[in-house]
Amino acid sequence: MARKPKFQKPAGMHDILPGEQKYFQKIYNVCENISNFYGFKRIDTPILEETELFSKGTGLTTDIVQKQMYNLKTKGGDYLTLRPEFTPGVIRAYIEHGMKNLSQPVKLYSMGPVFRYEKAQAGRYRQFHQFNLEVIGEGSPMIDTQIIQIFYNILTELKLKNPIIEINSIGDSQCRPYYKKLLVNYFKSRESALCVDCRRRLRENPLRILDCKEEKCQRIISQAPQIIDHLCEECHHHFKSVLEFLDEIELPYHLNPYLVRGLDYYTKTAFEIFSELPQKTEEKEFLAKNALVGGGRYDNLVKLLGGDDIKAAGAAMGVERVIEAIKIKGIKFPKSPNPSVFLAQLGNLAKRKTLKLLDEFRKAKIQVAESFGKDSLKAQLKLADKIGARYTLILGQKEALEGTIIIRDMKFGKQDTLKLEKAVKEVKKRLKK
Ligand code: AMP
Repeated sequence: MARKPKFQKPAGMHDILPGEQKYFQKIYNVCENISNFYGFKRIDTPILEETELFSKGTGLTTDIVQKQMYNLKTKGGDYLTLRPEFTPGVIRAYIEHGMKNLSQPVKLYSMGPVFRYEKAQAGRYRQFHQFNLEVIGEGSPMIDTQIIQIFYNILTELKLKNPIIEINSIGDSQCRPYYKKLLVNYFKSRESALCVDCRRRLRENPLRILDCKEEKCQRIISQAPQIIDHLCEECHHHFKSVLEFLDEIELPYHLNPYLVRGLDYYTKTAFEIFSELPQKTEEKEFLAKNALVGGGRYDNLVKLLGGDDIKAAGAAMGVERVIEAIKIKGIKFPKSPNPSVFLAQLGNLAKRKTLKLLDEFRKAKIQVAESFGKDSLKAQLKLADKIGARYTLILGQKEALEGTIIIRDMKFGKQDTLKLEKAVKEVKKRLKK
């Protein structure tokens, strides 16, 4: 049995090996292209931020702040946290750089790693990647719909057909407190039947009871008062408009009265997007449980973090989750073509000349493969064959001394000798044919 290596990646974290990079590249490409079309600009904020930014922004009662943050104290005595999500950092940057003076709304996208100390399991990592959108400075329901539309488009462009949109409104500071009271009253009289976590939530964040997955809680939740019946006029109107806009662009959605999201700052719209479910049960369960995208509106966050009273909305997509869905569905992305030229060399002098020649090919934008590690011509030709090179250039001892090179047509096995300085031009000509 192979011995365990002394060092391994930390639990819940993963290496993105060369073979996996194509998924990340493809996803980021699609995300960036679509976001650029809709007028979003990229912003990169530090991976570390002040701990208080998250405890205040993400919210003290959230699982993220209570259990999942990677905190550290610097030598200078600062308390910093590895970002568990993008939004607080982006809002901090918006305030810090006076972006309220730009034409509003400011539309920003970010991508990269986020960190949450969660129980590591399938679909749940401790370091994972998100693609994140924020629209700051606009309260119109059209923005909420547009964000949903953008992520819907991203997923369908990635060939994840018919994504499932789940949507709810969780009200605002006008109507939520009253609804919370109703909920607390309802659950209090049934407290002994709730799970331990929900009993804690009842005191700290009763709304979160609604998305508890425990069977015994679900039975009680299904009879609980629903916020939709208790929205204030403004929230009701806003939600109605979001749904009308979704109807207008013909995006199907499910109203989900139990969708409350894990973060404190949401107001009004909250939504999640899931992959269309396949037939097989095991995979179905995985996709049904793990949302690909989550987001909504957060009209109080800018103010909460020290800015003006500015409305905003946003959402984030989990890149690893999207990759898992792509794999489950057997979606294939076209592979980038192998180089059509292989450069073989024999002996030291040839090796030295090869470096220069390779650089000339790079300047001519012709992709060339080589294998400096292999010395025998046979091994090199075998490799050229394997990658499907159309031409192999052979630089032996004799050619290196004479300043020539052999060009071998791999399809017809025919070869010619030409002057070394003509090599790039000749290959270019032949490839064009
Ligand atoms: P959130 O920031 O919690 O709203 O999550 C947004 C999206 O990030 C989710 O819909 C998932 O796709 C992804 N996500 C959240 N937590 C994890 C995790 N621990 N591992 C992998 N992906 C995650």
